[in-house]
Amino acid sequence: MTSTNSNISKITKIAVLTSGGDSPGMNAAIRSVVRSCAYYKISCFGVKQGYQGLIEGKINPLGPRSVNNIINKGGTILKSARSNEFRTKEGREKAFHNLQKQGIEALVVIGGDGSFTGGLIFQEEFEISVIGIPGTIDNDIFGTSHTLGYDTALNTVVEAVDKIRDTAISHNRLFFVEVMGRDAGHIALNTGIGAGAEEILIPEEDMGLERLLESLKRSKKSGKLSSIVMVAEGDKIGKNVFELAEYIEENLPDYEVRVSVLGHMQRGGAPTCFDRVLASRMGLKAVEALRDGISANMVGINCGKMILTPLKKAIKGKSKIDTELVRVSEIMRL
Ligand code: ATP
Repeated sequence: MTSTNSNISKITKIAVLTSGGDSPGMNAAIRSVVRSCAYYKISCFGVKQGYQGLIEGKINPLGPRSVNNIINKGGTILKSARSNEFRTKEGREKAFHNLQKQGIEALVVIGGDGSFTGGLIFQEEFEISVIGIPGTIDNDIFGTSHTLGYDTALNTVVEAVDKIRDTAISHNRLFFVEVMGRDAGHIALNTGIGAGAEEILIPEEDMGLERLLESLKRSKKSGKLSSIVMVAEGDKIGKNVFELAEYIEENLPDYEVRVSVLGHMQRGGAPTCFDRVLASRMGLKAVEALRDGISANMVGINCGKMILTPLKKAIKGKSKIDTELVRVSEIMRL
């Protein structure tokens, strides 16, 4: 189901912004929105610094040549920001007033679920249409099998863990590698399988300390001299990654334990081809949805096809962990 706004089929001006945490592929999505607008003879505007820039009137025209040479760049040329003022009605009023001054009728929001919540409230309060493009490396948004930047982050993590493995093998070490994912273990699970991790700790499954310890003891007995344990930031085992490593070292003295927190490097870098193509498709789909009079929806991909999901559902729904992958990871560690 899509929510429609009868004014919008005559849409002539669209603004695009990036909000929340940045992710690789945001630039490719901006480029796609700008060029799709040019194709349909719609004027396109870029808003600097997300909703805060909207409130401060940082809105400038973008033409097809303003987005040359950005498809391969990480980060976002429009900059991203978090805005507390946009959480207030007064802030959103200012933002709307600035859009109105330029005659802008619609907004493409590239960001995560917080950004979509803001966009949803904004379009309910004012005469403005909003379409979301899911830009976050965590892949934690309902309504799309892949968010923008997720594939790049997976590849960044696997490359880093391959390097960590070299030193783990050389010194017979056990490495705890912490990756992003406060509420969702998609990065840890997929990169854990891709990088051949011994154990994968994700927020969706509480393995428990004792089981972890037993499993590491078993693998030591089976002849493994070094191991990698992937830990999602939001793992529910009840200890942070350093405490976890300490506990294992105390109880498994044969191993030298080290911790590596990959941190913000996971968000940077040139987007993979997958993310560039996804961004290009999502940008076009967003502009076409607005032309069709659709608002309050998010663009996504499902089984290779572009789809739309109402923002309300995308915000409330939970992207589930793939249990088949959990099983694969369990068998691969033997
Ligand atoms: P990430 O996944 O990286 O956290 P996000 O889009 O979820 O990205 P948030 O910081 O949660 O990031 O939200 C981005 C911005 O969206 C906020 O700074 C705020 O301006 C706006 N926003 C979030 N929630 C609301 C809300 N309930 N009402 C109005 N605006 C909101």
